[in-house]
Amino acid sequence: MAPLVVSLDATSAPQADGAAATAGHRDAAASDDFKQWVCVICGWVYDEAAGVPEEGLAPGTRWADVPADWRCPLCDVGKDDFALVEF
Ligand SMILES: [Zn+2]
Repeated sequence: MAPLVVSLDATSAPQADGAAATAGHRDAAASDDFKQWVCVICGWVYDEAAGVPEEGLAPGTRWADVPADWRCPLCDVGKDDFALVEF
């Protein structure tokens, strides 16, 4: 009985700490990580944070996860004609 209680206490405390630390990390990484890609042909911008829901790309979809055969919705060029937007 006693060891069970002790082990529950031991796991619950670090878990709370770890969750808080992880959440902080994830937050900073997320705002840093999302990038924008601009079509060099027409200037249309793909925003990873926003995605293109009407094209089947959920918000948060990374450029690397965009299908290779995906085309610019405005001018129909492929991913090769997009450039990373630097801030
Ligand atoms: Zn385009």
